[in-house]
Amino acid sequence: MPPEAERLVVDRALCIGSGLCAATAPRHFLLAADRRSIARPDAGAPDADAADAMALCPVEAISLVPGAGVAPA
Ligand code: SF4
Repeated sequence: MPPEAERLVVDRALCIGSGLCAATAPRHFLLAADRRSIARPDAGAPDADAADAMALCPVEAISLVPGAGVAPA
């Protein structure tokens, strides 16, 4: 049985707009007009860069949840 797909979620209430995720994993994250991050809906499966971004986020606002695509913010 293949592993279940995971998707990235940014807790925008926690995000302080450091930009580290977008700089580290631009395929997965971008800063919206309000300077808070969102997970790109077309980025595909999380990769090593996404994992690095999760580790670097100063407020631990990025997480993985089961399922494909992007969870609502
Ligand atoms: S690294 Fe964390 S705090 Fe910084 S923009 Fe990304 S989600 Fe927001």
